[in-house]
Amino acid sequence: MAGIQRTYRISEIVEEAPKVKTFFFKYPKPARPGQFVMTWVPSAEEVPMSVSYSGGGNLGITVFSIGPTTNKLNSLKVGDYVGLRGPYGNSFKLKGDTIALIAGGTGAAPLSFFAESLLNEDIKVHALLGARSKNHLIFKKRFEEMPYVDVHCATDDGSYGHKGFVTEIFETLLKREKFDQVYTCGPPAMIQKVFEICKREKIGLQASLESYMKCGIGLCGSCALGPYLVCKDGPVFNLKQLKKIYKNDN
Ligand SMILES: Cc1cc2nc3c(=O)[nH]c(=O)nc-3n(C[C@H](O)[C@H](O)[C@H](O)COP(=O)(O)OP(=O)(O)OC[C@H]3O[C@@H](n4cnc5c(N)ncnc54)[C@H](O)[C@@H]3O)c2cc1C
Repeated sequence: MAGIQRTYRISEIVEEAPKVKTFFFKYPKPARPGQFVMTWVPSAEEVPMSVSYSGGGNLGITVFSIGPTTNKLNSLKVGDYVGLRGPYGNSFKLKGDTIALIAGGTGAAPLSFFAESLLNEDIKVHALLGARSKNHLIFKKRFEEMPYVDVHCATDDGSYGHKGFVTEIFETLLKREKFDQVYTCGPPAMIQKVFEICKREKIGLQASLESYMKCGIGLCGSCALGPYLVCKDGPVFNLKQLKKIYKNDN
């Protein structure tokens, strides 16, 4: 049954950056990159979390402390229990052989999982990572360990890589590279900017979007964005769908 939740013991915790931790669980169901799990934290709420690792009977989620539930989750220890159900939603689809992954903050979580899944493809990947500072760049090393990935970083304070927005690196790269498809996840303002550039340059885009979610399985309607439900139609949306969401059909 799609909606049944069970509790799982946290098997490992990795500190990725200030206020960002990855939690691992022994989890029987494999996930595809882009999918999410509904994550219930005892004494708090149930929230969606993108899968950042899946394979060999393990599942990882990478959590940024932003409010009551994520603060509580990030205070848990190995051996504590968390409710999980899923994986739910659609996933990133590989299109073409030169692609760009554009991540802001914890948006690097599903995109690094996606990049890892491309190991056996004949492909060139540019990973563009943006964060507040060098310490906030998550999964940089994970991307760098993939031989088919070129990593480009941007930080707000200039402590690593380009000083400024990650979308500025994208504009620079576009002068010398032709991308078949762009994949993005991160803050809404960054995604909207990536959307505008891809629309202008006529490049296919797949963006993982966030919205407040309750049931996660298309029943309650709380995650509606434009004509879509993020849990059921997404969370990954293509350029045509994004035009409808951003009400910008030209
Ligand atoms: C498909 C999907 C995948 C996600 N994956 C991850 C992930 O991998 N890692 C991660 O850390 N988070 C992820 N999130 C976001 C996370 O589920 C929310 O931030 C969640 O609401 C946090 O709960 P909270 O109680 O800690 O904070 P809340 O009280 O819910 O939120 C704290 C503050 O954050 C802002 N906020 C939170 N969510 C939204 C939103 N959707 N739109 C606008 N503002 C918002 C609000 O201003 C709010 O005051 C994902 C969301 C979705 C839909």
